[in-house]
Amino acid sequence: MTKKPRNLILLGPPGAGKGTQARFLAKNLSIPQISTGDILRSHIKKQTELGKKAEDFITRGLLVCDDVMIALVKEKLKSIDCGKGFIFDGFPRNTKQAVELDNFLDQRGCPINLVFYIRINKEEIFRRLAGRRVCDQCGHMYHIEFAPPQKSGVCDMCGGKLIQRTDDKKETIQQRLNVYYADTFPLIEYYQEKGILREVDGARGKQEIKETMLGMVSDS
Ligand code: AMP
Repeated sequence: MTKKPRNLILLGPPGAGKGTQARFLAKNLSIPQISTGDILRSHIKKQTELGKKAEDFITRGLLVCDDVMIALVKEKLKSIDCGKGFIFDGFPRNTKQAVELDNFLDQRGCPINLVFYIRINKEEIFRRLAGRRVCDQCGHMYHIEFAPPQKSGVCDMCGGKLIQRTDDKKETIQQRLNVYYADTFPLIEYYQEKGILREVDGARGKQEIKETMLGMVSDS
C-alpha cells in the first residue's frame, strides 16, 4: 500500500508553539518544514533585498505583502517533492494566501490533507512571547521562565548571545495579535468547511501535543 502524503499546515496565534511542533512533525514524519518566518529572518540576516524590505514589516508586527510571500512559497514548493509531503508553519496567514496555495497545490495534484489549529489564550501568548529569547548565532530558543539558559544571556549550545526578537517586544506582540485575529483567524473556518481542520489544546505540555498531533496524522 502506498503511503498517503502528509501535506500539513499548522495554524495558531503567535506563541502557540507552531515552530516547535512543526520541527517535531517534520523530523518524525521525514517531511520538510516550510517556515515563512524563518525564511524571512534568514533573508534579514543576510541583508538580501527581500530581507531589507521584510524587516520593517516584521519589526512593526505587520504581514509582509501577499504577492511577495506567495511567490516565495511557490518557489520553495518547486524544489520539494510534494508527493512526499511537507509541513507549513506561518503560511498561509490570510484567505488570499490560502486560496493561492490551494490552487497551486491542486494543479500539482498534492492538496493539503490536514490543518492543525493550536488554540491558546491571550494571557499565555504574552507570557510565552515576552519571555522568549533566541541565540543570535545558532537560533536555539530559550524562555526566561520556562527554559532558561544556564548562564543568563548566553547560549548553552554555542556560547552565542541571547537576544529578544524585535517582534517579541510587548507593543509588537499586541500588534501581531491584532493582525492574527483580523487576517489569520478566519482561516480556521476556511479549513473547517473543507473538513480537514483538527483542533489541539495548546495549553497542554509539548510532549502531549506532539503525541496528539501524531495520532491525528495516523488517523487521517
Ligand atoms: P512568524 O515567525 O511565523 O511569527 O513570522 C514572523 C513575521 O514574519 C510575521 O509577523 C510577519 O511579519 C512575517 N511573515 C511570516 N510569514 C508570513 C506570511 N505568510 N505572510 C506575511 N508575513 C509573514
